Amino acid sequence: MNQRAEMLLGRNEKELLGTNVDTIWLPENVDSSGFRAALRAGYSYEGEEWLQRSGGDAFPAVFMGGGLPRLDDSDVAQGYVASFRDVTVQHQDEARLRVAASVFENLSEAMTIAGPDGRIQSVNLAFTEITGYSEAEAKGKTPGELLGSGLHDQEFFRAMWSCLDNDRHWQGEIINRRKSGETYPEWLSITAVCNEDGNVEQFIGLFSDISERKQAEAYIHHLAYHDPLTGLANRLLFNDRLNTAMSQAHRSQYLLAIMLLDLDHFKSINDSLGHHAGDLLLAAVSQRLAGLLREGDTLARLGGDEFAVLLPDITSHADAAMLASRVVLSFEKPFNLEGREVFISTSIGIAVYPADGENAELLLKNADVALYNAKDAGRAAFRFFLESDSTDSLERLELETDLRRAVMRDELRLYYQPQVSSRTGVMYGVEALVRWQHPTRGLLMPDRFIGLAESTGYIEVLGRWCLETACQQMVEWQKAGLPIRRVAVNVSPRQLRNPDFMEMVLEIVKETGINPNCLELELTESSMADDPEHTFSVFSQLRQQGIRIAIDDFGTGYSSLSYLARYPVDVVKIDKSFIDGIVGSEQNSLSLIQAVVLMAHTLSMETVAEGVETAEQRQKLIAMQCDLLQGYFYSRPCPAAALIELPCMTEHNEHEIR
Ligand code: C2E
Ligand code: CA
Ligand code: CA
Repeated sequence: MNQRAEMLLGRNEKELLGTNVDTIWLPENVDSSGFRAALRAGYSYEGEEWLQRSGGDAFPAVFMGGGLPRLDDSDVAQGYVASFRDVTVQHQDEARLRVAASVFENLSEAMTIAGPDGRIQSVNLAFTEITGYSEAEAKGKTPGELLGSGLHDQEFFRAMWSCLDNDRHWQGEIINRRKSGETYPEWLSITAVCNEDGNVEQFIGLFSDISERKQAEAYIHHLAYHDPLTGLANRLLFNDRLNTAMSQAHRSQYLLAIMLLDLDHFKSINDSLGHHAGDLLLAAVSQRLAGLLREGDTLARLGGDEFAVLLPDITSHADAAMLASRVVLSFEKPFNLEGREVFISTSIGIAVYPADGENAELLLKNADVALYNAKDAGRAAFRFFLESDSTDSLERLELETDLRRAVMRDELRLYYQPQVSSRTGVMYGVEALVRWQHPTRGLLMPDRFIGLAESTGYIEVLGRWCLETACQQMVEWQKAGLPIRRVAVNVSPRQLRNPDFMEMVLEIVKETGINPNCLELELTESSMADDPEHTFSVFSQLRQQGIRIAIDDFGTGYSSLSYLARYPVDVVKIDKSFIDGIVGSEQNSLSLIQAVVLMAHTLSMETVAEGVETAEQRQKLIAMQCDLLQGYFYSRPCPAAALIELPCMTEHNEHEIR
């Protein structure tokens, strides 16, 4: 025995000399040893054997020996020579390669491996499925030769290569061409794999076909900005245009006016002639209004029988007044609804920027006050907003002072609204919603004070209180054995921006002892837009703790689902405005929700429908496999004590199991 053999076997020569060679085999492998068989039969052998070290652990070795026996001087057989080497490392590498190969083939993303010259060495099945090229066709070509669509310029590829040179990584969207000639967008990520000397050995490309996702996005984008009934801009688009117009007016010194219109007694027409006639009337009204406007004005339907007009550059109040009186007069002519003549009038409220409000929200609010006054004055009229209409600033000041003491005086209350599983009809979790029990004004809804708390910074204190209270409540429910699995807490953008936010959350989790998996934080898209990098890092940290992240009011912001997909997000809450659209025959709202649900599921996100009010909405949402349903249909938000009395707490009522 040589030294190397001693080392590998963990025994010295003295111990082994004279013993049977079988002692170095793993006992259970002795009988199957190829070497022993070879010795008996008298031929030489090379193969893998499992050997045993002194401590008892086994290792694979390539074993060579046998053949003709060694003879002594008088040609008497003395024995055999054998040698072996440890192949543990090779074994591990092979196992790793096997795993890698199966990942490679099973990946749903297409993968290419190219050499340093950029020529493809191998591709996987998904590559062939997406591009239509087999591995044989792809081998030896560069991805550009094979798939190039000619739609990107030199500069695009120069930037890609310089990024690969510097960072060894590039990712982005690129348009490629399939074998069939069809172009398609893909999300491509390329990594340069380097050897120890820093030279590129391989380029690994991973991509997925995102054409379906893009179509759905474009579709959602259109639906999200237009009113399906009249084809007019919706509230979102109106707000967009208003904001743009305000910043232009600000620079150009022009004035800008918004008019809010509300049809007088529309409801009675709807009730007496039916919804179909109501829809026709709304369409006819929007046509007549459009005919009175200049190019550049925006006409929008904000919902129901409410319209809005944006007049971007007017020189005086008189311009707006002129248009308003033309509108009021134009309603003196009847509307023709499939042969039936209908009369209706409209009331108009007008607010002018910048005098009546420095931001969109205030401007709209004041136009609404003016509209209310126009109705009050007997309808079929228009009114401008007057400063004296507003008691706002005083009330604001009072509330602000009171709010600063609300937590200290124990005036805040948390209400809870169930989120019901669409599959079982049973409550799965709850959303916590804050209320303020004001000493003189009664129970105030968050709309009255959250904005105020945001602008004064008090939201930090308030938010902390809400989170803490909700976590405590959750722990209590669990102790009581109630099957409430999750509590969702709203987090305002300002809280998220605070660098200490993460620390505060962790502290409360620890303090209350809540299982982090039972906690969900609701954030709006706008809070992500502020500082995407910070948001990303906070989300990731929360996720690591097991805390779930929900995007609130989805569909009212700017981002798309595929944008969200780059963030660690667990839940998408589809905004109530889309759920409202599921009435009668409004096919568009349905397709939109369906698209969101399908996309969310592809991205492994859950969906929650907000503001479910009717059995019909519930029915359709169940059919579309929206995961959780929340709304007055099940329950209004209520105190914890009332929550546990709700039927959806336990009952498997007449809910369909899908
Ligand atoms: P949100 O997060 O979108 O909450 C849902 C709102 O819709 C709640 O109003 C809820 O009562 C209402 N709602 C639920 N189902 C229905 C329905 O079927 N029909 C109708 N018409 N409404 C429904 P709420 O409680 O007045 O809250 C308003 C907003 O105030 C919340 O909107 C949220 O943005 C904010 N808010 C509430 N609590 C907190 C809080 O603790 N912290 C922060 N930062 N914001 C909060
Ligand atoms: Ca919410
Ligand atoms: Ca919401």
